[in-house]
Amino acid sequence: MSLPGSETGNDVHVLDVAGIPIRFSPMWLILVVLAFRWAGSMRDGVIMVVALTLSIVVHELGHAFASKAYGLQPSILIHAFGGWTRHLQARTPNQDLIVVAAGPGAGLALALVSFVLLLAWRASGLDSAVLPFLLPYLVSINVYLSILNLLPVLPLDGGRIALNAAQRYAAPAQALRTTALLSVVVAALAALGAAALSDWFIAIFFVALGVRAGMMLRDA
Ligand SMILES: [Zn+2]
Repeated sequence: MSLPGSETGNDVHVLDVAGIPIRFSPMWLILVVLAFRWAGSMRDGVIMVVALTLSIVVHELGHAFASKAYGLQPSILIHAFGGWTRHLQARTPNQDLIVVAAGPGAGLALALVSFVLLLAWRASGLDSAVLPFLLPYLVSINVYLSILNLLPVLPLDGGRIALNAAQRYAAPAQALRTTALLSVVVAALAALGAAALSDWFIAIFFVALGVRAGMMLRDA
């Protein structure tokens, strides 16, 4: 997801991919701790951390490669529950749309690649202690997160796509009000849906986004 992460002097520059710097916030350790708690075993904890981190990095690389293609000088920050690709402002609405959509697009591509690898591994008959857990997890987590992230709720990518569309038909202030109102309604429905499924983490996440969008609506 593309929630703005806190940028501090404590972020660690881990590697560059095709000239795009990738830094990790100390907040990433929260994901590590939670993954080990969810997983229940050392092996599954390591697999979960690798799968979640890889999924976040690939999502952000989608945004970053698209913005790099337009010369927008991207850099990536990985934090607790997502990442943030910083780049210069897109020069046209179409550039903005492609840069935003490339994140979920990369996530769905990773799900597809993982699914093909899973089929290939099953067909091969090879033994593995890791792949039967890692590959289905990569498929499900990337499909799930990409779909959640495409809901039209600001500041998720789906909300940014909705804002991009609204700005084509309305003045900037009206487009922001319309998208913020849509965000409140969809976030409320998503929170209710998650609560009905007893997925309290996602329910609280959407309540927080709904409150944030409500404040945007009030101030717009
Ligand atoms: Zn994103």
